[in-house]
Amino acid sequence: MSGTDSVSRPPDGAGAPGGPGLAQVRRLATPIPGPRSTELAKRRVNAVARGVGQTLPVYAAAAGGGVLVDVDGNSLIDFGAGIAVVNVGNSADAVVDNLTEQARHFTHTCFMVTPYEGYVAVCEELARLTPGSHDKRSALFNSGAEAVENAVKIARAYTGRPAIVAFTHAFHGRTNLTSALTAKARPYKEGFGPFAPEIYRVPMAYPYRWPGGAEACGEQAAGQVIDTITAEIGAENVAAMVIEPIQGEGGFIVPGAGFLPALTEFCAAAGIVFVADEVQTGFGRTGDMFACEHEGIVPDLIVTGKGIAGGLPLAGVTGRAQIMDAPQVGGLGGTFGGNPLACAAALGAIATLERENLVDRARLIERVALPRLRALRDRYPFVGDVRGRGAMLALELVGTGPPTPGQVAPPPDRGVAVACAAEAHRRGLVLLTAGTWGNVLRLLPPLVMPQHLLSEGLDLLDEVLSDIARHH
Ligand SMILES: *Cc1c(COP(=O)(O)O)cnc(C)c1O
Repeated sequence: MSGTDSVSRPPDGAGAPGGPGLAQVRRLATPIPGPRSTELAKRRVNAVARGVGQTLPVYAAAAGGGVLVDVDGNSLIDFGAGIAVVNVGNSADAVVDNLTEQARHFTHTCFMVTPYEGYVAVCEELARLTPGSHDKRSALFNSGAEAVENAVKIARAYTGRPAIVAFTHAFHGRTNLTSALTAKARPYKEGFGPFAPEIYRVPMAYPYRWPGGAEACGEQAAGQVIDTITAEIGAENVAAMVIEPIQGEGGFIVPGAGFLPALTEFCAAAGIVFVADEVQTGFGRTGDMFACEHEGIVPDLIVTGKGIAGGLPLAGVTGRAQIMDAPQVGGLGGTFGGNPLACAAALGAIATLERENLVDRARLIERVALPRLRALRDRYPFVGDVRGRGAMLALELVGTGPPTPGQVAPPPDRGVAVACAAEAHRRGLVLLTAGTWGNVLRLLPPLVMPQHLLSEGLDLLDEVLSDIARHH
């Protein structure tokens, strides 16, 4: 592995190892990407499948707090958090300590062969932290997609019904079943079918683009969803409604007021299992431990992943005991699901979230960033909408012409979003896009990001937009 050694370590002074001790500064030592990253990119082409995408071609050497240091010694401000994963940081002390301690004892036994305490403890934490005071059970998995699939299995086993309702702009993962639940064709679905049957798509309450206007959006969209289920699918055929309380990949769409409560009420009356996919919104991201709390709703099942374990692969399904216990013994599980290292990391991440009041930090990030993003909307005509909650905020970028016929909002402009992201990357800001049309810039800073980096990142975003405006 000598070839790897020569490129995978940051040069002297780059601040490795990672963690909160990493110098919290933006610093550009080379162009982005630098020579070592470019070297690795060449190796990658011949070793890694093309279908695995990448946002920016810099190779990580260390990360923590609010920065990501690459193998060329560039220190970038991180507005991505590994897609809403490292809410507590990339190398949080409690995560690292728990993980190394657990690794010294054992890395694996398989919970289905000989169980261990960490798994049970994570399930206890999920019962304590998720909305609702009812009796709960959990099962643990390796990825968000796998957990969503299992939520569907559990709902079908409980109800004995086949149909699943999913929403426009939804994202639930990349396995076959979850790509079927996902709305966007490219790159998630095209060429990968046929997909699982009995999945029905209904409209998300998308205030910015709702024909009846943002005010009426929640109520009108709920009415349409309920009517479609009742008249076209038959409520008695529906096992589960699966929804992100704020849509992630779909473009950080915050549903219109009243939408989610109307749906939970309908599902409860119709015996439909209401599944909240909080894989992206969970663990403090939106300024509540879970986004459902803001809506005052209590899902029957809640799916978690991403931010649960401080960067380790772990996911869960948590919900009402009678639903969760419906599948037969042996029907749920997996070789690695609830791996001891991932569970130890999760306990460290949850302790960190609570001890450092990171849920409040997400609210603080909103208080600082949202007014600045609104100012950008007022200044630049191609910023059509600003939305989100907590540390999950977005700008929807649009063309400056009139709305396309039948649309209330200007047409999406993917090109300008791509240009903004590329320009941000060149300046040392990790910035992700999202959206069904790829025209949304999304901000997902780690909740532990120091204030000065948050402000500097927002300054950079402003510079980028003003640059783009000049050439637009
Ligand atoms: C990322 C994501 C998933 C899929 O999680 P993976 O761990 O990538 O399989 C599912 N649902 C939502 C809302 C997500 O954001």
